[in-house]
Amino acid sequence: MFPYFGELEEFHREISRNRKALKRAYDRVLGGRLFHLVEEADQLYLNEGSFRSQKFADSGGQESPGPTSKFLMAAVTEVPKPTVFHPDGSFESEPVFMGPGFVFSQEGMGKYAQSYGQWMPPALGTYLHEYNHFVFWAIQSVPLYFAICVIADIIRPKRIPPTENDIEEMVAALTCEREEKIARAALAGHLSFLHWTYELHTEWLDIRIFRQLGYEPPRSHLIFPPDQARMVHYHVPSLNLLIPVAVRNSLSSMKPEKCLLRLEQWHRSMSVSHPVQRRFMESLASAKIRRQTLDETIAMQQGRETLLV
Ligand SMILES: [Zn+2]
Repeated sequence: MFPYFGELEEFHREISRNRKALKRAYDRVLGGRLFHLVEEADQLYLNEGSFRSQKFADSGGQESPGPTSKFLMAAVTEVPKPTVFHPDGSFESEPVFMGPGFVFSQEGMGKYAQSYGQWMPPALGTYLHEYNHFVFWAIQSVPLYFAICVIADIIRPKRIPPTENDIEEMVAALTCEREEKIARAALAGHLSFLHWTYELHTEWLDIRIFRQLGYEPPRSHLIFPPDQARMVHYHVPSLNLLIPVAVRNSLSSMKPEKCLLRLEQWHRSMSVSHPVQRRFMESLASAKIRRQTLDETIAMQQGRETLLV
């Protein structure tokens, strides 16, 4: 477990120094069943090819965020057919093959060094945060990251998460009927909501793993401090549409076992407000997902587009 085949010395050092403690920490926090799922996924889907350079992240089609550390996903359908999206929010897609990977760079790590500062080795914190994104991809029957990929495929956002401005711009460029414009805008808002939910889940796991290793994250490091709600509404004036993008940290007051069950089955427990988003979630539950390595996914591409998120 905890592979790293990149060039950053600090990563090699921190991972090998902590490998034993890390196994113990994940076993304790996840419990036997989920720990074995992750262990298995780690063996099956991560190898040398899973660790990519910054150039790979920049080729994703969205606006490049600059040097970064990130978990990423290539997704491709066996039959080259785009996802068919209906204005009610439902969609149909061919079975989707997904391959996970990571981008780590010295510059990207520098960005987080300040946030980890004095309380934790930045290389270890950076690696574990991205690895924890992989953990959720491994344990969720419908990965939350898959939902992000599907919406990205349908609306092709300028960036993830899209901002209020991005949505307005996207709507202005659409030539379809008003009903479909509303559906696409609601889905773009849902993409922001899912992105923040995805970070909330990962932060929940980060905190618990860091504590097992003896590091206590200061409040200033957290995107979601326990008693704070992140409440945003996106307003799309041209459609007279208000999309709630609210993420509440309700996890911090729940028992860890209950949290893990909820995070594993996130698509069943999530309450969504807009009918378009509800229908999207229903379609999502029946989508067919195949997991494989990043190399295998890219090999399937054969000259056609691989969606990289
Ligand atoms: Zn993250």
